[in-house]
Amino acid sequence: MSKEENLECSFCGRKKAETDLLIAGMDAHICDKCIEQAHGIVEEEVSEAKTTGISKDLMLKKPKEIKGFLDEYIIGQDETKRAMAVAVYNHYKRLLQEKDATDDVEIEKSNIVLVGETGTGKTLVAKTIAKMLNVPFSIVDATVLTQAGYVGEDVESILSRLLQAADYDVDKAERGIVFIDEIDKIARKGDNPSITRDVSGEGVQQALLKLLEGSVVNVAPKGGRKHPEQKFIEVNTKDILFIAGGAFSGIDRMISKRLNMQAVGYGASLDDDKIDEQNLLQYITPLDLKSFGLIPEIIGRLPVLSYMNPLDAKTLRAILTEPKNSIIKQYTKLFKMDDVTFTIKEAALNFIVGKAVEYKLGARGLRSLCEAIFTDAMFELPSSDLKELIITKKYAEEKLTKTALKKLKAAS
Ligand code: ADP
Repeated sequence: MSKEENLECSFCGRKKAETDLLIAGMDAHICDKCIEQAHGIVEEEVSEAKTTGISKDLMLKKPKEIKGFLDEYIIGQDETKRAMAVAVYNHYKRLLQEKDATDDVEIEKSNIVLVGETGTGKTLVAKTIAKMLNVPFSIVDATVLTQAGYVGEDVESILSRLLQAADYDVDKAERGIVFIDEIDKIARKGDNPSITRDVSGEGVQQALLKLLEGSVVNVAPKGGRKHPEQKFIEVNTKDILFIAGGAFSGIDRMISKRLNMQAVGYGASLDDDKIDEQNLLQYITPLDLKSFGLIPEIIGRLPVLSYMNPLDAKTLRAILTEPKNSIIKQYTKLFKMDDVTFTIKEAALNFIVGKAVEYKLGARGLRSLCEAIFTDAMFELPSSDLKELIITKKYAEEKLTKTALKKLKAAS
């Protein structure tokens, strides 16, 4: 027998004569039948990943691990991180069960609403979740939305942005995350539905409801004006996770009123738990969202409700240096790229935090404060021989003049 005849498929062992084709690799051979089989396996795996959108890797992440990931980027806000971890875990379980549903139990979508002052990390939480899941993410501001036919953006424009974020891959977009900011701004004014049918508020809520519920929506691809001849893209919102956020300013009074009424009405019900008047948001319930002016249908479609704590000095201090991509870590890296060793003294950090608190600049202000302090150095050092920069409190004080602070305050 010739050497050629001795060849066999390294996968199934068939002799060359038994195959139609035997392809040679580096140290192995594969026959036509094995290629076909392997191709089938690849197809199956790819289509499974497509229909569930879930990589095996992702499913291994339990709520505790999801929270662990969030912990790397977000300081504090433990209640919200836990609620988010569970909601996201369930969301993806829901996607899985859809594929092989054997019973009639249908898991509903766990859209989320986050209530908390601006700058407390609502967007950051949503963004971080999207980063972890590696899904398209877009942010929309509810204030620009209007009912169809009015000046402003249609609610469908939310999906145009998501499509854009997904590079127009509809499959991907349909499993993305949308963060709807300032949802409180589309609340009905007043709690009486009969007298206030305002277009900007309730009309938009009704339109939004369609997306939250899960429906097939025609989306103008580029989000721009709809030309009659423009083709629409159909997007199914059933598996899109919506996270809404808002400051709901004044809602604390509604919570307080409700709590006090409960305390009067049911006597001892709250005696054990003394109310923490400083942070009433922790007692928020869907009822309060209703009092604020969200329609019950919308509230029903945002079943996970959580709140953000206001940021105190301790939290702001931690935000400066602790998150994985904290502001100070970013500056350290920037300076390092110019071979400059950057150090900042504890007293200087506390000074920055102090100013953020004094001028009520919040977490966003931390960055502006740092910019104001470090800009001179970032301008000078790249063209100098200095290889070390140590920021002391005195240095920070000198750079942060009253004028600079006033400007920051005005811009915030
Ligand atoms: P919101 O959406 O509530 O208005 P953001 O998420 O936009 O607030 O927060 C603004 C910025 O403040 C973020 O980009 C982040 O740098 C910082 N920040 C706010 N809260 C936190 C937090 N808890 N942990 C880490 N950084 C935070």
